Amino acid sequence: MVRFESVTKTYPGRVTALDHTDLVIEHGELACVVGHSGSGKSTMLHLMGTLDRPSSGRVTVAGHAVDELSDREVSALRAQHIGFVFQQFHLAVGVRVLDTVADGLLYAGVPLKERRRRAEAALERVGLGHRLGHLPHQLSGGERQRAAVARAVVGEPALLLADEPTGNLDSASGAAVVQLLHELHAAGTTVVVITHDRDMARSFDRRVELRDGRIVADTRPPSAVAHQPPADTQELLR
Ligand code: ADP
Ligand code: MG
Repeated sequence: MVRFESVTKTYPGRVTALDHTDLVIEHGELACVVGHSGSGKSTMLHLMGTLDRPSSGRVTVAGHAVDELSDREVSALRAQHIGFVFQQFHLAVGVRVLDTVADGLLYAGVPLKERRRRAEAALERVGLGHRLGHLPHQLSGGERQRAAVARAVVGEPALLLADEPTGNLDSASGAAVVQLLHELHAAGTTVVVITHDRDMARSFDRRVELRDGRIVADTRPPSAVAHQPPADTQELLR
């Protein structure tokens, strides 16, 4: 789903946010990215999401090498394959939830009636089927974040990227959002989540740890490893 080959990102002011990182996220994985503030997590997610381009190295998403695409092609790739959830909910003020979610399909060229039908289904999926006509300020923080998840997945992206999606939530609402990410993963979506939350990190199959722009650990819990074929079989499967 995503491949990083020696990906470096340097910002103006010579901040090296990512330093020659190599990473493969397979189709259907549920992975989290952890690390201290400033370690490069958001930069990594932005590059995975084609919101930014690397300074050097190659990012490949859904089989497309991003450096070989024009900005327009990159936008199309993003619209077709990727959904985002951020820590801040980004719901339009004064727009009812149903329409905010339906607008997530604008660029896919879906007619209005169908957009609303799919938005309703997405909101039901996140447990907000009873809040379709609500405005963002009439929702709790947890409900707003679930609406943001609905918007991110209404186009059925293959890849869902979430940057600290529970950062602004109380623990119960956060747990509901984590549960939702697990459900989307179980339904076939590849999910990559940045988190500070250790419990949340533990609940995921794979944990990629960043420090000063470098990947210092990439681990799967014993339970996940146990389900993999032995190393020699893996060798044969390559
Ligand atoms: P994290 O999400 O792990 O907190 P970031 O990827 O946001 O880390 O940032 C990594 C480093 O890059 C930090 O030192 C940060 O200050 C710097 N940085 C991030 N975005 C920019 C930017 N747009 N311009 C300059 N420096 C940036
Ligand atoms: Mg960040």
